Amino acid sequence: MKTVSEFFGTMVFNDEVMKERLPKEVYDSIQNTIQNGRHLDLSVANVVANAMKDWAIEKGATHYTHWFQPMTGITAEKHDSFISPKSNSTVIMEFSGKELVKGESDASSFPSGGLRATFEARGYTAWDPTSYAFIKDGALCIPTAFCSYGGEALDKKTPLLRSMEVLGKSALKILHLFGNEDVTSVKPTVGPEQEYFLVDKDMYNKRPDLVYTGRTLFGSMPPKGQELDDHYFGTIKPQVKSFMKDLDYELWTLGVFAKTEHNEAAPAQHELAPVFTTTNLATDHNQLTMELMQKVAKKHGLVCLLHEKPFAGVNGSGKHNNWSLSTNTGMNLFEPGETPSENAQFLLFLCAVIRAVDEYQDALRISVASAGNDHRLGANEAPPAVISIFLGEELTEILNAIENDEKIGSREKEQMRVGVHILPKFPKDTSDRNRTSPFAFTGNKFEFRMLGSGASIADTNTAVNTAVTQVLNEFYDILSAAPDFNATLHNLIRTTIKNHKRIFFNGNGYDDKWIKEAEKRGLSNLKSTPDALSHLLDKKNIDLYTKNKVFSEVELKSRYEILLENYSKIINIEALTMIDMAKKLIIPAVSKYTKDLARTIKVKNELGLDSGYETQVCTKLSTLCTKAYEITLELEKKRKEVSLTKGAYNKAKSYETIVLATMNELRKTADEAETLTAREYWPMPDYGELLFGIR
Ligand code: ADP
Ligand code: MG
Repeated sequence: MKTVSEFFGTMVFNDEVMKERLPKEVYDSIQNTIQNGRHLDLSVANVVANAMKDWAIEKGATHYTHWFQPMTGITAEKHDSFISPKSNSTVIMEFSGKELVKGESDASSFPSGGLRATFEARGYTAWDPTSYAFIKDGALCIPTAFCSYGGEALDKKTPLLRSMEVLGKSALKILHLFGNEDVTSVKPTVGPEQEYFLVDKDMYNKRPDLVYTGRTLFGSMPPKGQELDDHYFGTIKPQVKSFMKDLDYELWTLGVFAKTEHNEAAPAQHELAPVFTTTNLATDHNQLTMELMQKVAKKHGLVCLLHEKPFAGVNGSGKHNNWSLSTNTGMNLFEPGETPSENAQFLLFLCAVIRAVDEYQDALRISVASAGNDHRLGANEAPPAVISIFLGEELTEILNAIENDEKIGSREKEQMRVGVHILPKFPKDTSDRNRTSPFAFTGNKFEFRMLGSGASIADTNTAVNTAVTQVLNEFYDILSAAPDFNATLHNLIRTTIKNHKRIFFNGNGYDDKWIKEAEKRGLSNLKSTPDALSHLLDKKNIDLYTKNKVFSEVELKSRYEILLENYSKIINIEALTMIDMAKKLIIPAVSKYTKDLARTIKVKNELGLDSGYETQVCTKLSTLCTKAYEITLELEKKRKEVSLTKGAYNKAKSYETIVLATMNELRKTADEAETLTAREYWPMPDYGELLFGIR
């Protein structure tokens, strides 16, 4: 049997493979493109394409596909085979540089938010050489960006790449001010922790709500939930273990650094964390991870649920975006240093993040907004919809001392001067055990915890990268013009702390008192997706993205439309699914049970037996049945009306306040009926079976 290091990355056309298979000049030239973004010659692309094809065919591939990440949030591919007819009866396998670099694609079926008028249905995919090609299901997958013919981004990858580039440049300028002349590139790094649920496949197939919407729209709580905390880090069940083993194997062959796997808080909930890597790779890898989780689960008789809230009453699933900046010389910019200068640099980058998070709270909140995530944010299991930063006691104390020109505790005899004094070391294990903070400094990186489990991490990283870029640029302008660098730096750090300390919060983010306090501090609290998205086109956000060339105004407007439309579509599908389930499954089942109860009552009465139990249940269920039917009709009517609302925002907001609210009413009634209906009559697997049904 092969060892992990022997099969790791075997399906990836990575650096080692390129080194081995490409002529030296071609390899150097492609490296120049990857590292420094240099333009790639078609002659070079031809050689690379040919080497890729030969390598892929040796690995059993027959097809190639441009692999991209449209606004649907999942990945897209269109397979072409390598074959090219040679004569009437023979073929050769071909793949040209042109096919590698650019693909034509009919973009009309992907969301474009009006960007692509229907007469211009074409879009194109363009090779992203910074992410390695790989083989999946017998096809060579080439990571690409996806654009309209006018050059506007139609995907999530293009803005992410743009944000990485501008952030790298801004951070580099600052590092050079600190004398780090050896640094030539800076890249954001990310390690996304992925939560998910596993349920039995046969049970899943009996639940139209799971099949159509990814979450349960009905279901009363079983006697046991997660209150005993006996699942978190618990022993992994054999069926789940064998799923994880298989998943690891698949991910490792694709070069994904799957590292940690454990049970999560809710029953049937699990987590996978990879080792961090550069953001665009982490994004591709996270998409692959989500795809493979679903595929591998099926092979094990399971279904992987990536929805943010598959079950009411137990925790939902999120994704923790661990983010940092790292240089080509191996420096982590959020690692407090050993010397006064390193420390000053650390504090400056820290302040850039503090200010970016405070000033662009809404941009960050928008980046995690989705119909599914609305069930988590603010519920007392996930961070609130209010953004705040956790820095830990020690770092907060230092920042306070700098702000007030005070001495730090007993550690320093004199006042802390940035660039003169060395910071005390913050022991990592005390720096973060606050799990309730949306944006936590965890010793040498930031952990943004508001992301939903099903989301692409591209959106959030685009927002974080751009906000930090904007602040770093403003810092650079001040520092590069300063006659006295150290004094200016000290003042810049001090004023940043003073102006943005309202965003610091080290307490319990799940506490209601915090929400009131946050309001007093003037922090934004955008509770739902429509509320959050209504700020995407605020002048401040348009300026942020256009100034830094991450989005054009047209692109932002199209995203606004797409995201709101998407929200409306999701609630619409959920409402239709509920109506269908109520009418065809739940109400008929309850009716059948009441009919049998009524018959029993009749027989018992004829025999002179006591029918008190049957009469009470039957009466109660008959009333609930009628009520459920009436709410279903109301939901039907409201859904229809709301679906005709004009304007993307108005429509989404109406879906939230009218349709979703009525859905909640229907659920309440149906769930109550479930608790009174004999198990054998209930038309689908219940919560107990779904949550505890895995061997
Ligand atoms: P937790 O206690 O939250 O589980 P870990 O220390 O295990 O945290 O790390 C969580 C994630 O953070 C992992 O994916 C890890 O690779 C990632 N991580 C660690 N260092 C960095 C860094 N410098 N940049 C980005 N992500 C990082
Ligand atoms: Mg974590």
